[in-house]
Amino acid sequence: MQHQILNKIPTAPLPAGISSADTPVFLFPFGAAPLPQVEPGQDFTANLHSISLEVIANAKIELSPAPAPVGALRRRALNSSHPQFKIAAMTRPPGYRVTVAPRGASRVKNGHVWVYRSDIVSADGVPPGSLVSVADCRGQILGSALYSSSSQIALRMIAQQPVADFLKLLRQRAAAAIAYREAIVRNTDAYRIIFSEADFLPGVIVDRYNDILSLQVLTQATDAENVRQTLLSELSDRLHPASIVERIDPRVRQLEDLPPRDAGLLQGEKTSTIFTINGVQFHFDALEGQKTGAFLDQRENYAAAAQYAHGEALDVFCYQGGFALHLAPRSTRVVGVDSSRPALEVADRNAALNHHDIEWIEANAFDLLKDYAGGGKRYDTIVLDPPAFAKTKRDLDAALRGYKELNLRALKMLRPGGSLITCSCSYHISQADFLEMLAGAALDSHRTLRLVELRGQARDHPILLNVPETAYLKCVIAIVS
Ligand code: SAH
Repeated sequence: MQHQILNKIPTAPLPAGISSADTPVFLFPFGAAPLPQVEPGQDFTANLHSISLEVIANAKIELSPAPAPVGALRRRALNSSHPQFKIAAMTRPPGYRVTVAPRGASRVKNGHVWVYRSDIVSADGVPPGSLVSVADCRGQILGSALYSSSSQIALRMIAQQPVADFLKLLRQRAAAAIAYREAIVRNTDAYRIIFSEADFLPGVIVDRYNDILSLQVLTQATDAENVRQTLLSELSDRLHPASIVERIDPRVRQLEDLPPRDAGLLQGEKTSTIFTINGVQFHFDALEGQKTGAFLDQRENYAAAAQYAHGEALDVFCYQGGFALHLAPRSTRVVGVDSSRPALEVADRNAALNHHDIEWIEANAFDLLKDYAGGGKRYDTIVLDPPAFAKTKRDLDAALRGYKELNLRALKMLRPGGSLITCSCSYHISQADFLEMLAGAALDSHRTLRLVELRGQARDHPILLNVPETAYLKCVIAIVS
């Protein structure tokens, strides 16, 4: 059943069954003609009749913003035998309710923010992308969430309380995310500004590359036009970027059952710039490249890796040269390897920009490492930063074998005293799994590894402690003896 929750200021005694003035009134409207379409923030007066609570309201309702389809509100003939009262403002706590099974409820009670579709008991009549209240099977309200009608992640919790005004909350959270970065991010003009769940804004990722912002919208709820506009205005007002571009992941839009959409400029005209991380400069083309253009989560690991760089260095899975460019000032020679030619072309331009002479090799890293290790090549510093091998739990064993092969070969190639910087960005592989794999590779290669740094993603990618999925990057620095 569709319903609206209205805050009310009674101007007359309340109808029977409604006890307190500060309890939200639940209207379960049925009836004939739907109310006229209402835009967010628009005031209108309407007579509402809710059979289930026997409430008749001669109401002035401020919808801010309009709850999903306004057809949910329906008018009925005014029954003058009931007292009337004025509803001064409509809060927008979830007008829709989704009931979750005990497993989903206990996940939420344990601080997780996702409820999977298989744990949904009922979401009848809930439009895609709605803000909903989440209840367990006994009717206990667990909080508010954004609903997706198609993703396996059906609910993303956004608050433990009712949310009166989602757009206001969005503004507040965006402002808080920006303020956090302003306080803690140093030595860079490129960093993640909004990191989805970890900034309490599930479905929104915003990265800053100097004067260009790159936005990703990942859910039905955040794809809504009013959400986009609110976000854009908050970002513009606070950060004054030259432009804002949107990056599209077609697979995500498909999973969310959203219509296809092209990447492109949302604001301004500028699509390329140069950004600086730890004093190293990078070309940025907002509409090209993987992720939103760079692997910002590695920013602090670049600086850490540079401290251990010496002699001859090999950056495997180098992309546009993030590690290689940081290793260069401390190395006698740097080689970067990647299978992507477009990435290597940018890497080469980046090397020129920073006046470094780096050799870039287009190759399958597995084949190249096998050849190099077998051929007796030796290095003093090796970085391994492969793509996520384990996209799902099922890939775990195969992924660990892949990591082990890479690390084993790298260990064989490192000279005594050499530095290994080895990463994994698969969240299905825990830090413990990764270290166990590495210990196995050390044993098999007859090398002793001293672990000197156990690192993760940069601090502009914070981790929600009770949402393990937000901790995905592992970066281990070890010295080989
Ligand atoms: N270290 C990079 C990020 C690496 S992302 C940085 O800090 O910017 C992973 C990279 O691996 C991508 O650039 C991708 O093109 C490359 N890649 C994927 N599979 C590969 C393979 N089999 N051999 C070589 N490179 C590969």
